[in-house]
Amino acid sequence: MSDCIFCKIVNGEFNTEFIYEDDTVAVFKDINPKMPVHLLVVPKKHIESLNFLEDEKLSGTLLQTVRKVCKKLGITDYKTLINTGKGAGQEVFHIHLHILAGGNFNL
Ligand code: 5GP
Ligand code: ZN
Repeated sequence: MSDCIFCKIVNGEFNTEFIYEDDTVAVFKDINPKMPVHLLVVPKKHIESLNFLEDEKLSGTLLQTVRKVCKKLGITDYKTLINTGKGAGQEVFHIHLHILAGGNFNL
């Protein structure tokens, strides 16, 4: 998708610092963090939202990436969030998992 911001980021077009990267996924900091730790786990393949994620292997990879990255960073307590659809607050239509940590989870 040529006009997708996350496609551009995961393809390295903005020289974004990746916290983690492999052949299928990249993890980078959210530009507008809602907690002291706010990361985005993003597949390199363009998939609009969870409504279009049919690939079971990739589904597992995304969740395992959350685990690996949190382990690497020493984070044991975190929230993982996927917004699906405009009505639920999805702003970027390239599927991503939020990792939120280090703040007050009750806010
Ligand atoms: P959504 O609401 O779609 O689940 O989350 C989109 C997230 O992407 C938001 O938290 C927003 O701050 C973040 N975001 C939007 N554009 C950019 C960008 O260009 N770079 C980074 N690092 N994050 C972005
Ligand atoms: Zn995309």
